Amino acid sequence: MYDIIIIGGGVAGMQAAIAAKKLNLEPIILEKENKLGGKVAHKYSLFPTFSSAEQLIDRLEAQIIENKIDVRYHCEVVSIHKEELSVGYTLNVGDIKKVDNLQARSILITTGYEPFDARIKQEYGYQVYDNIYTSMDLEAMMKKGLILTKEGNTPESIAFIHCVGSRDSQIGNEHCSRVCCVTGVKQATELCQMIKGARVYNFYMDMRMFGSGYEEMYKEAQQNYQVRFIRGRVSELSQTIDHKVRLKAEDTLISKPIAITVDMVILLVGMCGAVNNESIGESAGLELRENGLFKPVNAFDSTTKSTVNGIFYAGCAESPKNISESMNQASQAILNISTYLESK
Ligand SMILES: Cc1cc2nc3c(=O)[nH]c(=O)nc-3n(C[C@H](O)[C@H](O)[C@H](O)COP(=O)(O)OP(=O)(O)OC[C@H]3O[C@@H](n4cnc5c(N)ncnc54)[C@H](O)[C@@H]3O)c2cc1C
Repeated sequence: MYDIIIIGGGVAGMQAAIAAKKLNLEPIILEKENKLGGKVAHKYSLFPTFSSAEQLIDRLEAQIIENKIDVRYHCEVVSIHKEELSVGYTLNVGDIKKVDNLQARSILITTGYEPFDARIKQEYGYQVYDNIYTSMDLEAMMKKGLILTKEGNTPESIAFIHCVGSRDSQIGNEHCSRVCCVTGVKQATELCQMIKGARVYNFYMDMRMFGSGYEEMYKEAQQNYQVRFIRGRVSELSQTIDHKVRLKAEDTLISKPIAITVDMVILLVGMCGAVNNESIGESAGLELRENGLFKPVNAFDSTTKSTVNGIFYAGCAESPKNISESMNQASQAILNISTYLESK
């Protein structure tokens, strides 16, 4: 029997499996996709270093292989049986859909997050107007090395809108997703580096540059790249006849309405709970936060522990985090699991 079933093979799940092996525990990762790395595997570069996302995933993957860690792909966990510590999952390969279950001595939930569905904020016209993209879409464009408008032109002016799906009581998402501000700064800087003479605007509520190196990135974006940061919520977007986007906002620092027209708009989408969190939570009696992420037993020394014996959390499955925080929490979870298993 495995010591730990790790649900989800993002950076948190991968780090947890590697840490478990170092403590001579036998983990298995169940991943619903056909590859490891989670959301980070879809990114081009990473704040705060602007280093390659692919290199980080390659490094972790090499350790997964070196440590001979079992990984099962296409396995989507839908439930947990808390008495016997087993998970119910569907194996989805092509047309084949097989239901199965697996038991272990403990379970670590690292299901991560889903990006906020920008279509819900209808006023931003995502997938209705041309040339409106999310921060995830932009990362994919950067990865391909092709930043083009729908008409195939290089955009000369780009506006970022912060807090899309976060800190928004209208849609019931009160939480701050923590990483969107710095993502906006990183992507704005990169657009200025990639597109000579680009005019880049960031519309923000307030800048939350909490992490090491973030404030420095913010200053550099303003001083070295002339990114314009405008404090104010965008109230309206509309498409012009030549497929540009017209934005109306209020600059709340000078209390004046402003309107600009740009070639492209990027919506900085926040984090929501992974799709199966509800069914997993319900089946095991685990408490979810309002944002769909799992609530630990307390917010200080036990963020990796659930209220059910033998079930633990790490990474964005528990709360919005950056990569280092997700991976550090994964190592912490393994220490707690090790102590739990020894006590049995
Ligand atoms: C736009 C954006 C840009 C970002 N850029 C950066 C950055 O530059 N630097 C940085 O430090 N952080 C960045 N982050 C944060 C970073 O994405 C997270 O910290 C990281 O992805 C958390 O890893 P995770 O493993 O917890 O979750 P995820 O990356 O979400 O991985 C979860 C994994 O679990 C799998 N899974 C989910 N449900 C199931 C299930 N039921 N069964 C089986 N498998 C399942 C998923 O397929 C996925 O592989 C960014 C976030 C956003 C939104």
